[in-house]
Amino acid sequence: MSLSGTLMDMYGAMLAVLGSSRWWPGETPFEIAIGAILTQNTNWKNVEKALSNLKDASVLDAEVLHGLPLSALAELIRPAGYYNIKAKRIHNFLQFLKDEAEFDLLSLKNRNLAELRPQVLSINGIGPETGDCILLYALDFPTFVVDTYTARLMGRHGLAWEDIDYHGLQAIFMDALPADVALYNEYHALIVRVGANWCRKKAGLCDDCPLQPFLEQ
Ligand code: SF4
Repeated sequence: MSLSGTLMDMYGAMLAVLGSSRWWPGETPFEIAIGAILTQNTNWKNVEKALSNLKDASVLDAEVLHGLPLSALAELIRPAGYYNIKAKRIHNFLQFLKDEAEFDLLSLKNRNLAELRPQVLSINGIGPETGDCILLYALDFPTFVVDTYTARLMGRHGLAWEDIDYHGLQAIFMDALPADVALYNEYHALIVRVGANWCRKKAGLCDDCPLQPFLEQ
């Protein structure tokens, strides 16, 4: 079977067992973008607490957040960990939004992905995974998000080589799958769920995993 067929069958198997993920959690695209930065190196529960602080303080707005002193922003997002670093990263992102879009995140949807993506990735502190999360989940651009779960799963199924880098892994999916925002959205979410529940770092719990039929015999 072609790689495209295999990847689509794996997608179908995960979706059949897990159902739709309805990602990314967030009430607005701006909240999704800030959540994507906050979730670096921490779990989602901690991100929720930080987002909740921002909402309670009525500052979850690009222009308002940009006007906040860094120390105040850091204090509000403290539950997400690395709060001083993340405050700077959020501020860098907000400065980009101000310079490029007068704080209007959604206006970036009118831009060309091939031009916008390098710009987003050039923001200090926004790596490819965070940048692609913002582009896919907040702005509906067809860019596939990969992460350590993806590398582990694909490696264990013989579909990616060891030490593959972010863009090599992303290219496997984007070369094989149609550029479909809904598909990319759900596929990454399903991989994260399979990774967290079955494809553990030490060893996969393969017997009960939705992807068990796809292991080489
Ligand atoms: S747990 Fe096993 S079957 Fe499931 S994705 Fe990982 S390697 Fe594949």
